[in-house]
Parts: sequence; C-alpha cells; structure tokens
Amino acid sequence: MSRSGDGWHGQRYSDARALVRKEQHGHASTPAHATQFQRSVMQTKQQIQSLLAQAGLSPRHRFGQNFMIDQNLLRIVADAGNPGADDTIIEVGPGTGTLTEELLARGAKVVAVEIDRDLAALLRERFRDESRFSLIEGDALDSKHSLNRDLLAAIETASRPVKLIANLPYNIASPLIIELLIAGVELLAFTVQKEVAERLRAAPGTEEFGALSVMVQLLAKVEILRTLPPTVFWPAPKIESALARLTREDRLGGRAREFSTFLQRLFSSRRKTLRKSISDSHHNPPQLLAQLAIDANARAENLSPPQLLLLFDTIND
Ligand code: SAM
Repeated sequence: MSRSGDGWHGQRYSDARALVRKEQHGHASTPAHATQFQRSVMQTKQQIQSLLAQAGLSPRHRFGQNFMIDQNLLRIVADAGNPGADDTIIEVGPGTGTLTEELLARGAKVVAVEIDRDLAALLRERFRDESRFSLIEGDALDSKHSLNRDLLAAIETASRPVKLIANLPYNIASPLIIELLIAGVELLAFTVQKEVAERLRAAPGTEEFGALSVMVQLLAKVEILRTLPPTVFWPAPKIESALARLTREDRLGGRAREFSTFLQRLFSSRRKTLRKSISDSHHNPPQLLAQLAIDANARAENLSPPQLLLLFDTIND
C-alpha cells in the first residue's frame, strides 16, 4: 500500500501543516532541515494518534507500546533489513502498522504478529486489501523458550529469505531473538533497548556477557547501527534504544536448541564455578576442564563463545 493511497492521509497532512505553521511562528530562525524533520515527526505522531483515537485506543504500557514517530528512522529501520520482493518479513509488534507500510512499499511479504487484539483489528482493517500482508494474532512466544506455533510454521514454510524487521516489544526481545535465530531466520534488523543491544556484542568477563551474547555471536554477525534517543518514540520510553542487525553466520547447526538449554543452565547460576555447574553433566569435571585447558575455578562468564561450544561438544561426545 503506498503512503499516498491511504484515504485519511490528506486530512492528517493538512492538520499537520497547520500545526507546523503554528510551531514555526515563534521560531523564525529554525533551519529548513530541522523544520522538515519536525514536520515529519509530527505527521507520523498525528497519524498514529489519529488511528488509535478512531479505534478508541491509547498506548498500552503493559504491551510496551512505544510507537516510532520519526518517519526518517522508520525508513532507516526498514532499509537496515534490505527487504526485497522475494523476501518474507516477520514483523513482531506491528502496532498501528507504520513500519509495516514501509515494508510493504518495498514489495516484501509481511507476516506480522500482534498480541493486542484491538490493534490486530485495526491492522486487519488498515491492510484488508493488501494480499502480501498476513497477521497472526497472539503472543510471539508460546513460552520463554518457544515461538508462537503459527509463527514457527510460517517461518518453516515461507519463501526464503526470511527476515525479521521490527521495532520490538522490549519485554520479550532477548528470548525472541534467540528463538528466531534457532528457527533459521536469515537476518534480523530491529530496535531494542540499548542495554540489550550491548548484550548482543558483549565480550566474556563483562557484566553484559551472557547466554544471549553467546547464542547470537555463534549464530550471526552482530552490528549496532545507531543509538536512538527516547524522543523518537511516542510515548517516549525512559531509556535509550539502539538499531541492531544480525546477519546469519551459523556455527551451531543442528545442536542450537540443546546448546541454548545448556547455556541457560550455566548462566542461571553465573557465580558458580564451572566445576560445580557441569557436575550434573559430567562424571569428572576437574579432569574435563584440565583436558580443555580451562581453569577449574573459571565461571561460564569467563569463557569465550567458541570455548563454551567446545565444552558442550566435549561433554556430549
Ligand atoms: N511497530 C510499531 C512501531 O514501529 O511503532 C509498534 C512497536 S511497539 C515498541 C511494540 C508492539 O509490540 C506493540 O504493538 C505491542 O502491542 C506489540 N507486542 C507486545 N508484546 C508482544 C508479544 N508478546 N507478541 C506480539 N506482539 C507484542
């Protein structure tokens, strides 16, 4: 659906122009590019507010509803995933469909998953004539360590490549990223809280390093493309965000699921020494660690991702 093809746009844009004129009145020296930026932000914010108001809705904090209102950034997020006509794009948390529209405009098929049933109704209406749009209504995760089964089926049967492009709901971001990588998604471009983005590329021995860092680093190339201030969202969250891109580079193959379970166990008691934390899985941990030249008092957080994988492989040999 093209942006200009939307019935309500004309009216919203003229409302926005009036607001921009009002805003400009006291700011005669505002540079042209800043004015353009403000205009685009206000138009996008107004569109979202108007869509919500028409449906009698307001942002729901419990679903992490912070809508991206910077149109420039919406394009940047969409482009970060380089969506093409043959691609299947998973969008978790389409909200009112602002990013969805950018993705459809690039010719991709979009499979969206939205938990909020009121927003799901709004999206069905908004994209009712769009055959490349399909919607799964529900939680993107069936449990902490499993994807929504309809989403999983969609990923398994979709035409490749399958990519995630989304402004993610922050409360499920970490498990969702891991599960999508295990399910075979080729590329993920998403905004997430900056603190989670830091965990994606964290090095061993740091506080941020954990199961998420290890899984992601063994399944993908990690890029943090930019950080984003709270003001690019409405309502503005309390924290900074970041745009990240993960490009599949799979070093786990068929053992990804089991390795993930192994990591969850090791990192759930991260202060324990490895000697203790692997005692359930091996009859002689000190000997095993010595064989791998790992300090017997080391903790999981001290090992690099390849070392953790080697430990897992040796235990399962
Ligand atoms: N895509 C919109 C945008 O770019 O502005 C909204 C992004 S907002 C940060 C997160 C969206 O995820 C909301 O629409 C929210 O209802 C939805 N959501 C929250 N938890 C979810 C879950 N567990 N499964 C699917 N969608 C979820």
